[in-house]
Amino acid sequence: MKVVHTIAELKELVSAAKIAGKSIGFVPTMGYLHEGHLALATNASRENDIVVMSIFVNPTQFGPTEDFSSYPRDLPHDTALAETVGVDIIFAPSVEEMYPTDGGIYIRAGRQAEILCGATRPGHFDGVLQVVAKLFNLVQPNYAYFGQKDAQQVAIIQTMVRDYNFPLELRIVPIVREEDGLAKSSRNVYLSAQDRTEAPAIHAALRLAHDQMLKTGNVGQAVAIASAYIEEHTSGSIDYLQLLSYPDLSAINDKTEQVLLATAVYIGKTRLIDNVIFSLKGEKAYV
Ligand code: AMP
Repeated sequence: MKVVHTIAELKELVSAAKIAGKSIGFVPTMGYLHEGHLALATNASRENDIVVMSIFVNPTQFGPTEDFSSYPRDLPHDTALAETVGVDIIFAPSVEEMYPTDGGIYIRAGRQAEILCGATRPGHFDGVLQVVAKLFNLVQPNYAYFGQKDAQQVAIIQTMVRDYNFPLELRIVPIVREEDGLAKSSRNVYLSAQDRTEAPAIHAALRLAHDQMLKTGNVGQAVAIASAYIEEHTSGSIDYLQLLSYPDLSAINDKTEQVLLATAVYIGKTRLIDNVIFSLKGEKAYV
């Protein structure tokens, strides 16, 4: 496995792979790897000749009061973990390497970014699209792997890939959870012992709402049940809890087939997100 920090080194490796006719699977991450990230890499390794993983805490997707500087980082540990799941190249650039100039040209995420996390984190998805577009151009993957954990991110990147004709396919990997249901996240290290005991209530609430929705089809009631569960079982506060059609992220109507039930909850100082995606016919979740 090679670890490179510059665009020049990455380009050399990518062009050698292309000349050799190898397919490239790409896993973008912010590092501090856990089993969720490793599941993406495992899928990429199964489906491609070469796996490139980026590890870059992207400043342009953090708001001014968010945790960019305190976000956990551990490149040596990440490197060792990545190697165990078949990553061939780690691209870990500095901020200066990624953003040496600012010509004032930005990508703006559209309607899908005005709600859910986009409402609480203005500009977040613009920053995500900026870094993802750059990374797609650099890595030139055949397939790029994203987690359903960030379902809104997936929907918005899907729109960019479709509307701007990026020559690649997205692969979406289901959420990897702790045994008690808490979605794995690099930010789980922020949770105190008390927070950690409360956090699994988020997934439990989503499951309750999912079951209720399939039983009655009543969106308002399903959301109310989940909200009440979170309020009763945690000391946290709900940022949003919404049921929308997926992946377009619009209100549910008669034609809706697949839905996203998504939430963000502050447990202590930590903002946790989670979701379930399912078909209104009761079929297994898919993206
Ligand atoms: P991050 O490092 O948090 O930016 O995440 C990098 C990628 O890993 C994104 O596509 C995430 O959706 C994905 N990811 C993060 N946590 C999980 C998880 N628990 N299960 C599956 N994928 C995940």
